[in-house]
Amino acid sequence: MQVATIENATCDRASGCPVVRVCPSNAVGPAPGGAYPGANGWLVDEETCTGCGVCVRVCPTRSLSMHARAGTVG
Ligand code: SF4
Repeated sequence: MQVATIENATCDRASGCPVVRVCPSNAVGPAPGGAYPGANGWLVDEETCTGCGVCVRVCPTRSLSMHARAGTVG
């Protein structure tokens, strides 16, 4: 089982993040704080993420990657 992770160093922190819009599980939300949603980057809720991989394909800055869910293999 895989889950998505967002690399905060390359995320452009757009308030209209396309990854947030396309995630079918609503697993992506703003990091706490900041002047607007996303100002501090975006986070994937690993408990909600289903590992579909859609976000990896749509992120314009290629800031998402898939990895094994903690405690699982593959
Ligand atoms: S892998 Fe799928 S469910 Fe998980 S954050 Fe990306 S789009 Fe959402």
